[in-house]
Amino acid sequence: MREKCGVIGVALEEREAAHPCYYGLYALQHRGQESAGIVTHDGFQQHDHVEMGLVGEAFDERDIEELQGSTGVGHVRYPTAGSVDKACAQPFTVSFRSGSLALSHNGNLVNADQIRDELAAEGHAFTSDGDTEVIAHDLARNLLDEDLVRAVKRTMERVHGSYALTVMHDETVLGVRDPQGNRPLCIGKLDDGYVLASESAAIDTLGGELLRDVRPGELVLLEPDGSGFDSYQLIEQENTAHCFFEHVYFARPDSVIDDSLVYDTRRGLGARLWEESGTESDVVMPVPDSGRAFASGYADAATEAIGDDAPEFAEGLMKNRYVGRTFIMPSQDQREQAVRLKLNPIRSTVEGKSVTLIDDSIVRGTTSTQLVSLLKDAGAEAVHLRIGAPEIIAPCYMGIDMASRDELIAAGGDSEDVREAIDADSLAYLSVDGVAEVLGESRADLCLGCVTGEYPYDIEGEESDRDVSRPDVADVPADD
Ligand code: 5GP
Ligand code: MG
Repeated sequence: MREKCGVIGVALEEREAAHPCYYGLYALQHRGQESAGIVTHDGFQQHDHVEMGLVGEAFDERDIEELQGSTGVGHVRYPTAGSVDKACAQPFTVSFRSGSLALSHNGNLVNADQIRDELAAEGHAFTSDGDTEVIAHDLARNLLDEDLVRAVKRTMERVHGSYALTVMHDETVLGVRDPQGNRPLCIGKLDDGYVLASESAAIDTLGGELLRDVRPGELVLLEPDGSGFDSYQLIEQENTAHCFFEHVYFARPDSVIDDSLVYDTRRGLGARLWEESGTESDVVMPVPDSGRAFASGYADAATEAIGDDAPEFAEGLMKNRYVGRTFIMPSQDQREQAVRLKLNPIRSTVEGKSVTLIDDSIVRGTTSTQLVSLLKDAGAEAVHLRIGAPEIIAPCYMGIDMASRDELIAAGGDSEDVREAIDADSLAYLSVDGVAEVLGESRADLCLGCVTGEYPYDIEGEESDRDVSRPDVADVPADD
């Protein structure tokens, strides 16, 4: 199961946590559209509401009213092929002898099956095949004989893979980011409390201030009364494995992730694309919306380099904003129809022109193939495709539902095969080094598995690009 989700956690002085959780989830809606859920704690007991659908569909006013308490966690879940199942919706809740737990998880463990087998042998009963439940049971077990901080640490030593978590243990909200910081998680200050969220755009939405990212391997514990937070660096690892694709596609452009504004990063990637493979054409246009920042960066870099000879930036495709993300359509036929439903050319900016079309990425090739034919039907003389990410040649095991190898158009052949299949006049991708340089990170600090086929984790049947031995476990300060 691959999950690419949004998480939030809130602790407030007095106000009900459900409201900020709800609006925060709205801000994170792009990270998951399959289900939405909020769990709060009123000091005595948990209240939960988890439904299939978008945030706006999953909750009505009454649901929010019934979610009492000034601490809470929330989750939006990314649609994954097959398991459209309420049992997988989150936050995942479990009650046990030492209290109640609610977990929101973004990411994917690589050793969940093994731990599930071990826990099942000890008598733990599982209700889903998800890895979040594995974390929940392991944590619940550790809490029977450890305090919260030590229990989390023991769980972090056991689970491997990517996890950005907001957890509620009784009324205490905590945030945990895996030792390699694969998925984003940040902490913000509100007027009357604190918030943990996948992306800073959620903090902005709540009128709060981004304080910083949760550090890889760090546990952040919010005071239940909203008065502050404690930090524990539980695991230290030499290198991070930040997902570059968060910056390329997944995160909102108005979010700041690991100290970079995503919009600026995308413009930088677009500029780099011009430097690496800029081409003459009449106009340069984005695939809306995902290609927009790339195209503007590309166009500006072109103008800076060759002045009046640079292609003119133009909007050549209009988007129907009432159509959801096409990726979620299960069959290829539906996906093709969906592209035409979603995007329509503006004839006057296309007819008789040579066009450089810019998108962030090619996965299956559906979007590009349809758009090249759409633009040619509208009279484009040539369509040069420029892509702001390297060729995606391998699956993602870390939380992005990116299809298996045989569905990836770039997995088998070289880029000339892809160009031919898509019927573009030319095609160029950004280099892996280009991505790392623009992100300002060394390749050793990024997860590049889907574009190199080498992963920063120990995944059965796959190569690794680093020493994936056990991380250093930091000493937990006795009492804080
Ligand atoms: P393709 O049509 O080649 O299969 O997918 C490429 C398009 O899907 C691009 O326009 C890109 O913005 C978008 N895309 C890339 N990765 C993902 C993903 O993980 N999820 C979703 N929903 N869309 C993606
Ligand atoms: Mg797109």
